[in-house]
Amino acid sequence: MPYIVVDAGHGGWDNGAHYNGHREKDITLRVATKVTKRLREIGFTVTQLRTDDTYVGNASARGRQIAELQPNLAISIHVNSSGGEGKLRGAEIYVPLAEDSARFEYYLQEELSHLNAFREIYSRAYTGEFYDRHINPQTLRFTQTYSYTDYYGIIREAWRGGVSCDIIEMFYLDNEGDLYTFLNQEDAYVEAIVVALSKAFNMNYEREARHEVVDRPEPLKTETYYRVVCGSYSDLNEAKKVQQALARANYPGVWIQPVETKR
Ligand SMILES: [Zn+2]
Repeated sequence: MPYIVVDAGHGGWDNGAHYNGHREKDITLRVATKVTKRLREIGFTVTQLRTDDTYVGNASARGRQIAELQPNLAISIHVNSSGGEGKLRGAEIYVPLAEDSARFEYYLQEELSHLNAFREIYSRAYTGEFYDRHINPQTLRFTQTYSYTDYYGIIREAWRGGVSCDIIEMFYLDNEGDLYTFLNQEDAYVEAIVVALSKAFNMNYEREARHEVVDRPEPLKTETYYRVVCGSYSDLNEAKKVQQALARANYPGVWIQPVETKR
């Protein structure tokens, strides 16, 4: 049976990204737990690295743990944040620089694209440099590999032990559109990962009975958010000046919203 390690990013004192009351560590735990359950139903052997809200080590320590476990593949679930830009959206997949096989990434890209939720596949070198990874759809291999050391500890240390570990940054928490794309169809993101792993490892994917409506977005849950408004301007340039000042002061998620008023 294929053996997968599923890591839920962050945990305990390490909240990860944080936006409007949503914490990365809660989302990653929820998704990792669901993915683990679904993979086991399908017949995978799975170790979930973090199963509750505790701190289980930094990225490098988790990478070393993955190397010890020797799975066929490891995935580390995360949520992205653009640090106040609020414009980027979609899932990013980070793969080891030297990884050649792109089976899982190809299918995951395909599944996430169906959800209108895919952005890009990257590798990142220790120097900080990003590399776009492209897949040959005929061979399901990356068109190019690199021999540099990986930037992310979990990818680097797992790879040192001969294990391929992907980081899946599911969406941008500080982009409200992206956040609601996720919240409205969280289980569809779970299934996207499960389908991609099933295809990559030639496992017979079976949709769980209660997931029969998974393709239909669930209605929005009603929650109250307290939006901080800092002014209204009839001149767009004035509004932009205030927006820039707030951005310089590191306030996240500052945007301009046109409001029509009759006069
Ligand atoms: Zn993270």
